[in-house]
Order: sequence, then C-alpha cells, then structure tokens
Amino acid sequence: MRWQNLSQDGAGDGAAAPALFGTDVVTRTFDTPEFAGITFHEVRARSIVNRVPGASRMPFDWTVNPYRGCSHACVYCFARKTHSYLDLDTGQGFDSQIVVKVNAPDLLRRELRSPRWHGDHIAMGTNVDCYQRAEGRYALMPGILSALRDYANPYSILTKGTLILRDLPLLQQSAEVTEVGVAVSVGFLDQGLWRTVEPGTPAPQRRLDVVRTLTDAGIQCGVLMAPVIPFLSDSPEQLEATVQAIAAAGATSVTPLVLHLRPGAREWFMSWLGAHHPHLVRRYERMYAYGAYAPKWYQRRITRQVHEFAEAAGIGPSGRGVARRLPEPERPSDTAEAAPTQLTLL
Ligand code: SF4
Repeated sequence: MRWQNLSQDGAGDGAAAPALFGTDVVTRTFDTPEFAGITFHEVRARSIVNRVPGASRMPFDWTVNPYRGCSHACVYCFARKTHSYLDLDTGQGFDSQIVVKVNAPDLLRRELRSPRWHGDHIAMGTNVDCYQRAEGRYALMPGILSALRDYANPYSILTKGTLILRDLPLLQQSAEVTEVGVAVSVGFLDQGLWRTVEPGTPAPQRRLDVVRTLTDAGIQCGVLMAPVIPFLSDSPEQLEATVQAIAAAGATSVTPLVLHLRPGAREWFMSWLGAHHPHLVRRYERMYAYGAYAPKWYQRRITRQVHEFAEAAGIGPSGRGVARRLPEPERPSDTAEAAPTQLTLL
C-alpha cells in the first residue's frame, strides 16, 4: 500500500499532497461476527482538519474524517475512488479495508488550539461515514465532539449510522455553546433494495428512528434523501411514501439527491446492476452516457416531486433548523461532468 503518498484526506481530488501517515501502520482483524471479513489499518495521521479544495462546490470549507473506507458498503458510494489513492481496491476493498486514524481526537484538539485556526465550521461524514461499524470499536467520535464542544466550534454531521445516538449527550452539550447540524441519509424505504444496495447500513426505518430520537432530544435533524435511484426508487408512490416517512420522523427538512456515478463507484454499481437488475443496464447506460450525472430534466423532475410531497407533508427543503452546511444538490449538466467533489451519499 502506498501509505507515503496520500492525497488530502476526504476533501482532495487525488492530486499529490504531503503524506498524512507515517509507516507505523498497525493492521488488525477481529474475530467477532460484527467485524467478520474486515481489516483495520490503524494509522497516526499528521493532520485531521482538512481544507476542501477551492475548486470544490461543497457548501463547507473544512472537514474532519477519522476513517477511510466504509463498512456500510453502499454500492454507489462516491468515496470508493479515494481508496485507489492508497493502492487499495475500490470495490470490496473499500468495504472491508478500513483505515482508522487512531489519534484523530488528540490531533483535532491540538489543531483547534492553534492560533492559526479561526473557528470555522467543520463538516463530518462528508467522505465516509464517521458512525460506521468501526466507530463502535474505536470510539473516536466522542473525543472529536468533546474537542469541538470545548472550543465551541460549529460543526455538522451527515450519517447513516444509528451509533450517533451514543453521542447524543455530546451533541446536546455542543448545541448549547455552538451551532450543530445533523442530517441523516435516507434515500428510500424499499427493504429489498436496501439489503442489496446498502448492505452494511442500518435499515431505513432505523435511520428514521434516529431522526425521531434526535428531534425529540432537541437536536434538529434534516434528511438527505439520497440517493434517489432511477427506475428502482423513483416512482411517485415511492417518493411520496419516503417523504411521508421522513416527515413522520420529525425531520426539519428533506433534500433530494439523484444517484450519480463517478469513476470508482460507476463500475461497482453497474456490476451490481447487472447482477440484480440486468434488464436496467441498457437504460442506465443511456441515462449516464454523458457523465456521472443523470440528465437535468430527470433531476428537476425528482426535485419537483419531492418538494411537492414535502410541502404536502409539512416540511420543506430548507426548513428551520436544517444543518447550515448540509450539502446541496449538484448543479448538473446534461452533457458534461460537473467538477469533482468528495461528497458521498451518506
Ligand atoms: S455512501 Fe456513506 S455510508 Fe455508504 S459506504 Fe459510502 S460513506 Fe459509507
């Protein structure tokens, strides 16, 4: 593995950057069923607050990502390509070879203390899920949230992980001293689709239960309705049922995002599609013939429908309490690739 030549973590575009990790990588496997087949590479990162490249259109400037790779294993995950920067496989390797920055909490506290740091908003869960299964073992987030709370540093978290509820007291303490935004990603409700396309994630209803628990505890929570998967989760009935469930969970907002397929994710997704829905392969090839994004007319249709259903359900795309720095839908082009970003569809 090319541990000495990593790009800027979680926010970069793969361009050369100073190495983040040294050579003292500790590789572990655990025999418990929860971690069967997963290998953890424990590293000591050299920096943890990462600047989003200027060319990125992400609505935040700084990220913290304590992990690379994600056992949630979403077939469409855009972060897959980042594993290639480590000479790791972007398919199953992304799901099972997890890099753990074991010094992330200490490093963050040090960087927040630096006179060069000006207390800008920090986004988490923008590359891979910080509440994936590894977090149950390594428990890096409590230290990270404690540091952010102590420095009253505003932050947001985007996740599919129910484990965030473990840290609810820290979220509440943070919200008393700074701006905290939480969003949960729920693209659809279909159980069969969930089991195959997001096989390592908590079920959609469990994620909606997280939304309910957070809102009941005073942490306002939006839902990123992502991805809407063409021909599999995009019928008006499916969209309406999903929006209604999101509203019933007490979400403060719903933001739809149509599937997009960047290199790394595209190959893995199309292979999955061929295995599970072979009759759709030609339609996808046409729909994504000109790049990573579905055609603009399609995205507009989905957005309009979701907004109509949301309005009927009493929530909106930018409701009160939505995380200030939640990712916004891409501005697509029918014929050209949009500028690359590292936002994943958590
Ligand atoms: S989309 Fe999010 S939750 Fe799914 S594998 Fe990627 S980082 Fe993990």
